[in-house]
Amino acid sequence: MPVAVLGATGTVGARLVQRLRGHPWFALAEVAASDRSAGERLGDRVAPDVHLHPDDAARKLGTLDGPLASHLVLSALPADAARTIEPELAARGHLVVSNASAFRADPGVPLVVPEVNPDHLTLLDAPGDRWPSGGGIVTNPNCAVAGLVTALAPLHARFGVGRVVVTTFQAISGAGRPGPAAADLVDNVVPWIGGEEEKIAAEPRRILGRLMDGAVTPAEVTVSATATRVPVLHGHLESVSVELLTPATPKQARAAWAEFRGPEGTADLPTAPAIPVEVATEVDRPQPRLDRGRGDGMTVVVGRVRPCPVFTLRFLVLSHNLERGAAGAALVNAELAAARGRVRRGLS
Ligand code: NAP
Repeated sequence: MPVAVLGATGTVGARLVQRLRGHPWFALAEVAASDRSAGERLGDRVAPDVHLHPDDAARKLGTLDGPLASHLVLSALPADAARTIEPELAARGHLVVSNASAFRADPGVPLVVPEVNPDHLTLLDAPGDRWPSGGGIVTNPNCAVAGLVTALAPLHARFGVGRVVVTTFQAISGAGRPGPAAADLVDNVVPWIGGEEEKIAAEPRRILGRLMDGAVTPAEVTVSATATRVPVLHGHLESVSVELLTPATPKQARAAWAEFRGPEGTADLPTAPAIPVEVATEVDRPQPRLDRGRGDGMTVVVGRVRPCPVFTLRFLVLSHNLERGAAGAALVNAELAAARGRVRRGLS
């Protein structure tokens, strides 16, 4: 099935282009970015450390106002551009699978992690004339939420999650290119990331929520988040304290994670990892540099699981922000949509 990638010159878009090479179901057909890049070769517009297949490097970047032939559009646009472009594409009948935050809270737009809430995809079927048949937007969560919610889901299913306090240690690549200035980051921790704490508080409630009568009822989970930027290239580490509604020991939590595979069929999606959550047993893991590549960057790693004197348990979570948190997340959502017959070869 042909695929268009928007924002293909950026950190996430270029990773999508790399991930699509050799993909068993999808073939990259079109690439586009901002007007600044239109008409240029993709290889001349990506960051110097991004290595593309020569055929992809030679692709010419299109404009966003022109027509796209592919029904499936993978978007790695900034939120402000996504806010206007993505609904226009959906109105033209495209299925837009987006990394941007612009529509994650929209009640008619599924916010999906395939291992956690694949059923939310049916929000696309809501009656109404917002988008024509086959058109719509599907989103993946914020990059810090992707790891957190995948770790919380098995606990929520088995014990119920009440309150969560999380502090994130987020990698530089989470801010895209060029990202924060080196002089601000080296020898430093920046204790604020604009808009991030609000997303970390809101998105897990929606993803863990229940689909009823064509709408999502948010989970009664309260998240208190502190987001920081640290001088790590890739991989968001998070320190989590969680209140469980049915008390559980670290051993019981480890068992819930080890047995977690998500609903039937999700592990068969080409980009889904065989093991969604791995539990590190070493006392000093997970670490971004050592553990972010597990499961091709799609496995979330949990470690240092111990009782919490305030809530029930505390632990560390690590996930690769560009893979589980962005490009891999969008691609696996597109695969889920395709597996459910929602992706066509062309617009007609
Ligand atoms: P990025 O490196 O800054 O790339 C942005 C891309 O969007 C580039 O291709 C750029 O094209 C294009 N673009 C910028 N302004 C545009 C405009 N006004 N109209 C059309 N295209 C425009 O950003 P990124 O990190 O890849 O992030 C992309 C999206 O994914 C964002 O919504 C971000 O919040 C989300 N996201 C990122 C991560 C992460 O870890 N980085 C994780 C989860 C979600 P030009 O090269 O032509 O300027």
